[in-house]
Amino acid sequence: MHEMSITQSVVDICEGHAAGRKVTEVVLLIGELSGVVPESVEFCFEACSKGTLLEGARLKLELVPGVGSCPACQGEFPISTLYQPCPGCGAFGLSVVAGEELRVKELELE
Ligand SMILES: [Zn+2]
Repeated sequence: MHEMSITQSVVDICEGHAAGRKVTEVVLLIGELSGVVPESVEFCFEACSKGTLLEGARLKLELVPGVGSCPACQGEFPISTLYQPCPGCGAFGLSVVAGEELRVKELELE
């Protein structure tokens, strides 16, 4: 499963930042265009955090809506996929402004 390796690297990153301290809360930003399923990350987090500094930590997921910009009309629109035409003018080839991120936003340490 795709999310398992993603969640594992999130746990690794957090452990690096925690530098031996126990982590009580992790806030994760997940872009709607990242292809990552939030429910799967929640599920994997419990397994991946076992035996690490993150064991028992609360996981908060913040979803970042997808935003695309159109090269034809210069507009910016909320989008759910990159492969849709511009909602403003119908042109293809939108580029992503937001929504592809997957990163740790905050770490709370004990
Ligand atoms: Zn457009």
